[in-house]
Amino acid sequence: MSTTTTSLEANGHASVWTPDSWRSKPIKQCPEYPNKEGLAKSVSELKRLPPIVHPREIVRLKQHLRDVAQGKAFLLQGGDCAELFDYCEPRAIESKIKLLLQMSLVLIWGADKRVVRIGRMAGQYAKPRSSPTEVINGREVPSFRGDILNGFHPDERELDPSRLVKAYHYSAATLNYIRAAISSGIADLSRPLDWSLGHVRDPKLKAKYQEAVDFLKEMLAFMNTIGAESDKLHTVDLYTSHEGLLLEYEEALTRLLEDPTSPPSENRKAYYDTSAHFLWIGDRTRQLDHAHVEFFRGIENPIGVKVGPTTPAEDLLALLRTLNPKREPGKITLITRYGASKVASLLPAHIRAVEDSEYRGTVVWQCDPMHGNTQSVGNIKTRRFSDIFSELQQTLRIHKEQGSYLGGVHLELTGDAVTECLGGSEGLVEDDLSTNYTTFCDPRLNEKQALELAFLIADHYRS
Ligand code: PEP
Ligand code: MN
Repeated sequence: MSTTTTSLEANGHASVWTPDSWRSKPIKQCPEYPNKEGLAKSVSELKRLPPIVHPREIVRLKQHLRDVAQGKAFLLQGGDCAELFDYCEPRAIESKIKLLLQMSLVLIWGADKRVVRIGRMAGQYAKPRSSPTEVINGREVPSFRGDILNGFHPDERELDPSRLVKAYHYSAATLNYIRAAISSGIADLSRPLDWSLGHVRDPKLKAKYQEAVDFLKEMLAFMNTIGAESDKLHTVDLYTSHEGLLLEYEEALTRLLEDPTSPPSENRKAYYDTSAHFLWIGDRTRQLDHAHVEFFRGIENPIGVKVGPTTPAEDLLALLRTLNPKREPGKITLITRYGASKVASLLPAHIRAVEDSEYRGTVVWQCDPMHGNTQSVGNIKTRRFSDIFSELQQTLRIHKEQGSYLGGVHLELTGDAVTECLGGSEGLVEDDLSTNYTTFCDPRLNEKQALELAFLIADHYRS
């Protein structure tokens, strides 16, 4: 791999990629920092700091995602919509790790496949916004754009470039604790997990979930009895991801490093975005000729692209050709998010555009059943569990009909007992929303709702 990447543009000219070539393209959702000096200072500090993740880990995740693309594994990705710096504390981090682990056990049981886990964690600090301002208590203030850009408090809405460096440190501290907790046995399967199903009101569903729980508990006890103590059972991989929205930050953490897959004698180097293992391009920033696609075409990391009702089928192929010209399996995850009422009419054409092309079998198809199903009750943003499940169920069915493989799910969730999404087995209703509504952006599944979704996916595979 050379140190720059070239591609043929529509006009036939080769264009050279560099970590800053995105700067010459039009860009959406880009912050205009008033304090340019402060920005330059933060960026030069970021450029000096060590990578947060290592190329070897990035390459390992890409290999796992190749297995997902080929139908041999399943991808579970989840976490907050907007992570706050304040979420960098042990309890919040542990509860998310445990929830992802527990969900993945259910999925392993259901789908009979290995599960690759990616958290929306340790860097999910930048949010795209539909409106630049909002009105709070009669006062118009800039919208909250995520802790890496400005503060949630109405008095802290000015863009503050020193937050870029804070985001680095909070990401590093979060990932450090994830690594420490995992290597010290938080994911040790011999520890009892909370599988209580007291909240499930429907007796039929309860019996179904109980069957899974009994099986998993027996299996875990059996493995302990026979002393199946390999590292694989006692530890778990958890990769990190965030939306690659703020290119100033991503560029500063993109480094030319030795390619771990190259023989030492060749000393090949390539660009790795060391802010996270996996980055995705959001629904609002995936324009083919714009800055985000330009930036992401040059890095080695596996990349996600959100695909929604406004994605023309032709754009999908053009995106794949730009972002993955070598057609590496698992390099690109297409994260589909149409909404329960639209998925049936839109997904089949998107699947055909990819699977009838030279990219057949190379992409990971992942369902994000959250972002097409947001609605407002009064002025509270919420999502119905039934819509979330319906989009997921239709997506599973459509992939089966089309002969493609739904390789994963992408969820907004938290390990806390929040009341942000309606429905699920606890039967949360509109009046419950105010009980524990703590998100600073989109509504998340709580622990019980998230686990229930895993049970429902498992059930699909087993029936
Ligand atoms: C998100 O994942 O939080 C998000 C903003 O999604 P999308 O880009 O699909 O709207
Ligand atoms: Mn969101």
